[in-house]
Amino acid sequence: MNMQEVQKFVAERIAPAANECDRTEQFPMDLVVELAQQGWLVALADESLGGRNLDLMNFGELFELLGRGCGSVRAMVMLQNMVASLLQRWGNEEQKQKWIPGIAGGQIIAAFALSEPDVGSDALNIKASAVRSANEIKLNGKKTWITLGQIAHLFIVFARLNGKHTAFLVPRESPGLEVFPISSMLGLRAAMLAELRFKDCRIPGENIIGGIGFGLAPVGTLALNIGRYSIAWGCLGMARVCLDIAMRHVLDRQQFGTALKNFQLVQQKIADMIVSINAARYLCEAAATVGSFESRRAMMHILQAKYFATTMVARVTSDAIQLCGALGCRNETLQRLFRDAKVMEIIEGTTQIHQIKIAEFAIHEYKRKGSF
Ligand SMILES: Cc1cc2nc3c(=O)[nH]c(=O)nc-3n(C[C@H](O)[C@H](O)[C@H](O)COP(=O)(O)OP(=O)(O)OC[C@H]3O[C@@H](n4cnc5c(N)ncnc54)[C@H](O)[C@@H]3O)c2cc1C
Repeated sequence: MNMQEVQKFVAERIAPAANECDRTEQFPMDLVVELAQQGWLVALADESLGGRNLDLMNFGELFELLGRGCGSVRAMVMLQNMVASLLQRWGNEEQKQKWIPGIAGGQIIAAFALSEPDVGSDALNIKASAVRSANEIKLNGKKTWITLGQIAHLFIVFARLNGKHTAFLVPRESPGLEVFPISSMLGLRAAMLAELRFKDCRIPGENIIGGIGFGLAPVGTLALNIGRYSIAWGCLGMARVCLDIAMRHVLDRQQFGTALKNFQLVQQKIADMIVSINAARYLCEAAATVGSFESRRAMMHILQAKYFATTMVARVTSDAIQLCGALGCRNETLQRLFRDAKVMEIIEGTTQIHQIKIAEFAIHEYKRKGSF
């Protein structure tokens, strides 16, 4: 993929609308067809399926550039790739043929529904339940904070069937499913979040992905690896935008008879921003070398990249505003990125959950082979 063309598309078609979308809390729906035409909605898939057959490095670079443009668009593209990849890996032939072409073409918008009002980090403990009869499944429970929930045509829903964590394909028009918009979020404000309520919601009996008990692992694990990877790379793009704005400001703005760039405390911030962006980039690039999203090794690299990149972008967006002073407080792009950055530390596993998982893995490796 030609990254200069991607950069041009992001700069011309995505970035200019981002602040308006943030303000109005509306996803730029007119972009969906164009994103599909670029082959980005199923970017890992073969070109015959409407994709770009990207390797992990190019896939990451795509999300870095989308991160520069608009966090909600990045999230939308990520979710389509996530759901298409889940179907590609764990779906049966009928499911693949039924859903992947529509996702690739932008006619079907897909969303991922794991979190519940009482269950966030403790995802193993979901309460939503499913009962299977001869040829249908009935779902009960609630899902919340579902990105694209207001506009999605298809939900991957996690619920317990016979007590086992299982993933289901739930079309939006399924009887018994109600969708309630969630507004006024801190960040990713154009991501059209919703709560889903299932009351004896009926779906066809074959709408299970993988099999009973395939919920959190392997289906959810693959999904979270793709989501976290996309977020980590997206943070690089967000941070670069902030750095560019801050750099222009400290070069131009004069105080005490000289440009801000000449103050050593300002230079310290610039140095910290650059080094931490580069350090996050190295972790993202290391994660890109794992070959696939499925191994334990992949998970560990992706956890480290997401953990570091999200804390980095929270700091960099804050520092950029600090360097720009009152003008930073008024700059709509910095405001949006500052708020989106905070959200990055929460979604797809919080910073603390990442720290716990990284430490658990390291402890396990030390016990097993005496080193990490
Ligand atoms: C903008 C946005 C979009 C989202 N989109 C989706 C979506 O599309 N699909 C979906 O399923 N979910 C989505 N979510 C939900 C998201 O996945 C959860 O917010 C996230 O998993 C954290 O869960 P929680 O918010 O319930 O926090 P909690 O799990 O209640 O955690 C609250 C705090 O406690 C800390 N904590 C929890 N457990 C521990 C522990 N063991 N040790 C130390 N600290 C701990 C956490 O780190 C956090 O700081 C979205 C959320 C947001 C904000």
